[in-house]
Amino acid sequence: MDVIDLRSDTVTRPSAGMREAMARAEVGDDMLGEDPSVHALEEAAAARIGKEAALYVPSGTMANLVALLTHCGRGEEAIAGSESHILNHEGMGASVLGSIPVRAARNDERGRIDPAEVRSLIRDSWPKTSVVCLENTHNRCGGAALTASEMRSVADVAHERGLSVHVDGARIFNAAAALETTAAALVAEADTVSFCFSKGLGAPVGSVITGPREFIDRARHNRRLLGGAMRQSGMIASAALYALEHNVERLAEDHANARRLADAIATMPHVRMDPAGTDTNIVFFTLEGVDGAEFRRRLAEEGVLCTGTSVQRVRMVCHMDVTAAQIEAAIPRIRAVLESLTAAS
Ligand SMILES: *Cc1c(COP(=O)(O)O)cnc(C)c1O
Repeated sequence: MDVIDLRSDTVTRPSAGMREAMARAEVGDDMLGEDPSVHALEEAAAARIGKEAALYVPSGTMANLVALLTHCGRGEEAIAGSESHILNHEGMGASVLGSIPVRAARNDERGRIDPAEVRSLIRDSWPKTSVVCLENTHNRCGGAALTASEMRSVADVAHERGLSVHVDGARIFNAAAALETTAAALVAEADTVSFCFSKGLGAPVGSVITGPREFIDRARHNRRLLGGAMRQSGMIASAALYALEHNVERLAEDHANARRLADAIATMPHVRMDPAGTDTNIVFFTLEGVDGAEFRRRLAEEGVLCTGTSVQRVRMVCHMDVTAAQIEAAIPRIRAVLESLTAAS
């Protein structure tokens, strides 16, 4: 049976064209600053986001950690959303490794944070708050795309008080596609922005931090401190550059697939969801009256894989290795499992 893997957009495998780009990559020792493919990637990424410079790092987690280490001295605080990836899925690395306390501003169901709450959380000395983090698209809040003005309202509060703004833009190109704008326009007010090549863009490895050249120079030291400086990393950077050049424009296809999936699932039994809450490639819904673990196990037997943020809250992610035809094939399998669980309970 055809396995349809909706666990994450990280499960994509490099395409033939991407593998060819990797095979052809010119490489050198990047720790010595001599890898031309890494340089090309960093320049292209910075230009795409509209910032001066960029730094290639092994993962999105390291991108956020390096960014926070570079924004904050020891004991200086960061503010991040209560549902943010930084606070929930990164082992609190900034606090554990960097002595940077991270305080939570409440995320609403669409991943927004209230500028007034941010203002009330900012402290001017001992401890001093140094950076406010935003996430776009918002992973745990249904892949919601925050608009430029929603981002700006928080950035303005931070900048008024002399703080910096970091955007965890792991899926910033999904946000731009959903809002029919450019990533650069969305993050115009941010000081630094990180994004992932290894999610919807389909590269095997890597993320980037973009920002002012002076910031990126300091970030480069912090990357090395964490063991994230690499050698002939042009082998993987060339895949990331290929992704930037070939896989950004097609993200709208994943969004169309997610919308189709959400609209269908919303009509199924034991499902609570608002299909209008699906902005991008991530579909979330809540199961009622049936066992979520049983649902996932039975669905896997039918060849459809998914995850969730809790037993009852299911997450399905569309990506470039899932076609529209596979979504059509997944829908009746999901319905059949839900109907059979109803009968059994
Ligand atoms: C995936 C993700 C990250 C971390 O990326 P990794 O490459 O998995 O370390 C950071 N932020 C958000 C919002 C993400 O979705």
